[in-house]
Amino acid sequence: MSDLLARHRAVMPNWLSLYYNEPIEIVGGKGNRVVDASGKSYLDFFAGILTNMIGYDVAEVREAVERQLATGVVHTSTVYLLRGQVELAEKIARLSGIENAKVFFTNSGTEANETALLLATYARRSDQVLAMRQSYHGRSFGAVSVTSNRSWKNSSLSPLNVHFLHGADRHLAQFRGMSDADYIAACVEDLRHVLATSVGGDVAALIAEPIQGVGGFTMAPDGLFAAYKEVLDAEGILFISDEVQTGWGRTGSAFFGIANHGVTPDMMTFAKGLGNGFAVGGVVARGDLMDGLHAVGLATFGGNPISMAAANATLDYVLDHDLQANAARTGTLIIDGLREAAPRLPVVGDIRGKGLMFAVELVDPATGEPSPALAARFMEETKKAGLLAGKGGLHGNVLRMAPPLTLTMDEAAEGLGIIVNALEVINAEVV
Ligand code: PLP
Repeated sequence: MSDLLARHRAVMPNWLSLYYNEPIEIVGGKGNRVVDASGKSYLDFFAGILTNMIGYDVAEVREAVERQLATGVVHTSTVYLLRGQVELAEKIARLSGIENAKVFFTNSGTEANETALLLATYARRSDQVLAMRQSYHGRSFGAVSVTSNRSWKNSSLSPLNVHFLHGADRHLAQFRGMSDADYIAACVEDLRHVLATSVGGDVAALIAEPIQGVGGFTMAPDGLFAAYKEVLDAEGILFISDEVQTGWGRTGSAFFGIANHGVTPDMMTFAKGLGNGFAVGGVVARGDLMDGLHAVGLATFGGNPISMAAANATLDYVLDHDLQANAARTGTLIIDGLREAAPRLPVVGDIRGKGLMFAVELVDPATGEPSPALAARFMEETKKAGLLAGKGGLHGNVLRMAPPLTLTMDEAAEGLGIIVNALEVINAEVV
């Protein structure tokens, strides 16, 4: 065990997850690659943790932050006007497609979801909320309540009265072999059934991830949320789309993940990539909902000048370089390549994804059961070959990959080669 790992274990929680048998310390980064303390270079196919959305050491972001630092103002309270905050809010409000949208900035996705739940439950004067099975929305009390992924749930105590819906758990035996249309109809029936049998009085909102991140990039068929929304609208139930992983063009086919379903939600929450590593999150919501709280409030560090400088520069970069189109292009190359290789690799149970958000599910070829052990093997194999990936899913057997949106076609081909090679190696070990 390295000295740093021993010190980490001594003073940090044992539930703080660390990847790899020998966890690495990243000490540098440039473009879409990072370097560890031993000098080894890796193509980062997890973008930090979807945080380094436009790669490492981007001049435009660095210079924007340095310009802000040079003013001497690292932080000033939001009781004063902050130009960077207003400018970023204007851009996000416009991009959201939400009518009369207003924006509130936080420091994380958890806080963003907490704020959205506060707005919705207050607007509807109800503590009842709908959420999706296998979801992950963060680590605070409210966000954990709407999280249903067992390995991340932590607590069964809840400040909210939450009902969980089917929608992302398509692989369950009862849904196998169904067409998309039949699956959507079954999920809508489940929603109607929950409303008819399990709730007492009004429901405030449905909160959902368009593609479940921590859940293993599980995807409902496009159109599910449009079908849900018809029912929600008829009942006056608000819809919160958690775009913490799916926002800013990552899915290639839409700027916010929920637009793949043809839906404009009442609120969206965001974080992770927007500051390209600087902590920034927030909620964009219909103006009437955002203005509806009858109390003053602020987040001391939410919308601070440094985060706003980084986020404005990052968002401008995404738009100026049309990185949504790049995500579509590079993501298609990788997903098509994985699908081509899968039939000769019995360890591969499923390939799924959209744009630069794609996953490989690993199974025991003998039983077809999820294999977290093979996922761990894959991680070691790709690490050795110089590629960083993520893993997760309900059973820990899903390889999750979400490279920076700046990935080049050459890097996409290089990463695909490393992934397929690692799959071949572990496949040969067990078949
Ligand atoms: N929502 C989703 C979909 C997430 O993936 C995450 C984090 O992984 C969160 C919320 C929580 O964000 P944070 O870790 O910034 O609090």
